[in-house]
Amino acid sequence: MKLVLMGLPGAGKGTQAEKIVEKYHIPHISTGDMFRQAMKDETELGLEAKSYMDKGDLVPDEVTNGIVRERLAQDDAKNGFLLDGFPRTVAQAEELERILSDFGTELDAVINIDVPKESLMKRLTGRWICPTCGRTYHELYNPPKVAGKCDVDGSELYQREDDKKETVENRLNVNLKQTKPLLDFYTKTGKLHSINGEQEINKVFLDVDQILASF
Ligand code: ADP
Ligand code: ADP
Repeated sequence: MKLVLMGLPGAGKGTQAEKIVEKYHIPHISTGDMFRQAMKDETELGLEAKSYMDKGDLVPDEVTNGIVRERLAQDDAKNGFLLDGFPRTVAQAEELERILSDFGTELDAVINIDVPKESLMKRLTGRWICPTCGRTYHELYNPPKVAGKCDVDGSELYQREDDKKETVENRLNVNLKQTKPLLDFYTKTGKLHSINGEQEINKVFLDVDQILASF
């Protein structure tokens, strides 16, 4: 199953991705996670991405498209994958079509998690993440069993630098502008499925799963 997960920052892509990969055994490929890992490792890619991410701007397409092509060429992505956070622009979507066509394949579906902008600010500023396994929690909507600690490995949770109020606003605006043309692009391909992301986490997954079950 070859999937793209779309949604504004905070829509619940990471949260749903965790459930999808557990059930369907496909690799979760998140460009945001890849950039954050590169920043942590202080690689050249990480240093370049940091200047954009710190402001909430998009990393340039040449850089982003390159890491996605490399990642999709790996063996574990041959039979399926879940792309999260990519593509974010029509130019990236066109490049993804080219990459997959070079590999002799194509996307099965694009799932768009729809959440009104007003709810996203609250979600992002209350988001806490496990540095070890990447699981996402929310202080109100999805709290860990023990405050400040990951349910799975007990690591101390942290908040992302770019989840601060000032950066969040810019990120939402940057993403809002890019999203409409991207949704139009995937509507034309007939692959777009939009779901209501403003429901309880497990209910959102039921809706996602209903779409995936048909593939
Ligand atoms: P969120 O979880 O809030 O949706 P991500 O973790 O996907 O955010 O992305 C964090 C940051 O990483 C973005 O603000 C951007 O700077 C960079 N980034 C991630 N994916 C892309 C992409 N496809 N194109 C350009 N920049 C990206
Ligand atoms: P994204 O990857 O799209 O940026 P996340 O999956 O990290 O989004 O979710 C953003 C925040 O909102 C997290 O703190 C998460 O626990 C919380 N969240 C995710 N889905 C829901 C939901 N359906 N209802 C309420 N909060 C949610």
